[in-house]
Amino acid sequence: MKRLLCLLLSCVLAGSLCACGSTSASSAASSGPQPETDEFYAMDTVMDLAAYGDGAKAALSAAQTQIETLESLLSRTKTDSEVSAINTAGGAAVSVAPSVAQLLSAAVEYSAATDGAFDITIAPVVSAWGFTTDSYQVPAQEDLNALLPLVDYKQVKVWNAADGAGDQVSLGAGQSIDLGGIAKGYASDTVEGIFRENGVDSGMISLGGNVYVRGSKPDGSAWRVAVQDPADSQSYVGVLSLTDAFAVTSGGYQRYFEQDGKRYHHIIDPSTGYPAESGLTSVTIVAAANSDAGSNTITPGAGTMCDAFSTALFVMGADKAAAFWRSGAYDFDMVLVTDDGRVLITKGIADQFEQSEGSDYAYEVIR
Ligand code: ADP
Ligand code: MG
Repeated sequence: MKRLLCLLLSCVLAGSLCACGSTSASSAASSGPQPETDEFYAMDTVMDLAAYGDGAKAALSAAQTQIETLESLLSRTKTDSEVSAINTAGGAAVSVAPSVAQLLSAAVEYSAATDGAFDITIAPVVSAWGFTTDSYQVPAQEDLNALLPLVDYKQVKVWNAADGAGDQVSLGAGQSIDLGGIAKGYASDTVEGIFRENGVDSGMISLGGNVYVRGSKPDGSAWRVAVQDPADSQSYVGVLSLTDAFAVTSGGYQRYFEQDGKRYHHIIDPSTGYPAESGLTSVTIVAAANSDAGSNTITPGAGTMCDAFSTALFVMGADKAAAFWRSGAYDFDMVLVTDDGRVLITKGIADQFEQSEGSDYAYEVIR
């Protein structure tokens, strides 16, 4: 119910991205056009969608169907998914849907761009920690040592067979892939396409913390997307004003377990096999949605990029993340929260970021 209220308030409830704060419920909910909304569980998380206008209902229904289709292709816990076929092929080539081939190509590109901080072949290590099954454990170092050589995105091959057999994927011996760090972003790209096709000019979605805002709010103002305080689920470090954009957060507070007084979270540093300890507590990546994309074909876009980079830059830490942003190789902005109480915002969105009143964080702009 709280979730729905937030949607009506036009406050993007993004799990990780939004604490609803103290926005007054009564005034906002009663005025202006009401959105069509949809909420369901998929990809191991809650999906919230809202859209305005004539095409809204059809768009939300198509979006849910599309997300469920993607889950059935991309899940590695569903034994009949294409990802499961890839993971159990023992290194042999597997025919895949064009969308899966495109997503895997994008994943490999983002792995190379981040020097392996993002790596979908992290799967065996994620399993060793129990994050796939929810039966958590700290793996023995010798087990991790045996698994780490399997983590190498360079052995993921994606190609189109010359004999007309279509898109093919193969992994190295013993490898498996986990798309948990990129699938929701890809799903948000597909929703962008569906909103466009259905003439939805105003809407917003949160796919388990992967936010996409379409256009502006019906009253013409920007959508407000709150960035959760990693140290306190009831408050946020600030609010972003966004139109036609993706905003994706990765944080160590989103999935974790505790053992012997120590916390272990689900974002793994591929160089150690351990949960990343980079000094960051959350990373939010923001990028413009390319609404001019004229085609109806679903291709990985800015949503996919934001998801991959939120995971990768969390692993990299603030200094490397800032250097990566400054390199200009990809068009994005970011909000980093550090474990020593700082919030770092890149110049491109500094004007769109409103600090939380009375916050104990120190705010800095990355230039
Ligand atoms: P969330 O899924 O909570 O939104 P992320 O987008 O950061 O958070 O994805 C984390 C998930 O990605 C993990 O649960 C795991 O499946 C996978 N993963 C963990 N570490 C990495 C990594 N270094 N590169 C790619 N995927 C990862
Ligand atoms: Mg991610």
